[in-house]
Amino acid sequence: MKAFKYLSPTTVEEAIAFHGQHSETAKYMGGGTDVIVKVKEGWMEPDFLISLKKIKEMSELHKNAATGELSIGAMVTHATLEKSLMIQNEYPIIYDAVSNIGSLQVRNVGTIGGNLINAVPSADGAIPLIALDGVALLHGPEGERSVAVKDLFVSPYKTILKPMEILKKITIPPQAPHTGSAYIKFGRRAAMELPLIGIGILLSLDEIQGICTKARICLGVAAPTPMRAFDAEKLLKGKKIGEALLIEAGKIAADESKVRDSVRGKAWHRKEMIRVHVKRMGIKCLELINAGH
Ligand SMILES: Cc1cc2nc3c(=O)[nH]c(=O)nc-3n(C[C@H](O)[C@H](O)[C@H](O)COP(=O)(O)OP(=O)(O)OC[C@H]3O[C@@H](n4cnc5c(N)ncnc54)[C@H](O)[C@@H]3O)c2cc1C
Repeated sequence: MKAFKYLSPTTVEEAIAFHGQHSETAKYMGGGTDVIVKVKEGWMEPDFLISLKKIKEMSELHKNAATGELSIGAMVTHATLEKSLMIQNEYPIIYDAVSNIGSLQVRNVGTIGGNLINAVPSADGAIPLIALDGVALLHGPEGERSVAVKDLFVSPYKTILKPMEILKKITIPPQAPHTGSAYIKFGRRAAMELPLIGIGILLSLDEIQGICTKARICLGVAAPTPMRAFDAEKLLKGKKIGEALLIEAGKIAADESKVRDSVRGKAWHRKEMIRVHVKRMGIKCLELINAGH
């Protein structure tokens, strides 16, 4: 393993300045679960690793009581999200996703920001944040900008981040009442396995008639980047949702996906699992709404 210098800034501005001084040879690091593996294997050879760990504001998780907006610092770990009662009760789709990432050790240090910026098609953390209409706040040498989480990804391992830009936090707009959300990571094993397919659904219903006012169907490992199944979502919006409609939405979502064969599974199997799990997760959303979530 090539030797590197470890830098530990305490503000975003300081981190960007460090990166500016060492530009090509520096790399940001969140929890390091991806970066350190790559450095050890020699796939990445930075001279400087800039840890974002000591930047306090980036580790904050809080909900604004007045506006209902949730703010998740990019350095918030999967374990912090998993243990949060607020996340468990109000954002079950986030809980479902992060509580199944890697092992306890990976969740203790791996961050939600690193999961997004790593930009693999199987990133479990991306799907719930897309379903919840999350917005990423980026900070670079030219200042701040906001981008919808769904628009962060360009291709596997590539995001729209400009050189030296940092993902500071993700904000989630307030959720409508009568909203249910759920995620399933479907794979051959329950633990230490990247998903064969990841399916996240969010449904909001109108209080009086139970008509669907918002539908999000988000898929991981179904295309080169995490994706939304827009046609399947359109089918649900404005209708009273039952099992038959969810079965139809599952078929449409499977057709919209761009699944392919890989070492972990065949395309036909992935399509079949999208079909099955869109229905199952849709029903789980309806159950959560009925239970008063
Ligand atoms: C054994 C093992 C099992 C795993 N299992 C899963 C799994 O089940 N599901 C899953 O989705 N992932 C899994 N992963 C992948 C990884 O752990 C997660 O993606 C994790 O969330 C990455 O976060 P990190 O903070 O460790 O990222 P890091 O390794 O620190 O960084 C990842 C990338 O993001 C960049 N980066 C990090 N933070 C920022 C930021 N705030 N701003 C700008 N750039 C940033 C880094 O420069 C690097 O390019 C696994 C990894 C291992 C080693």
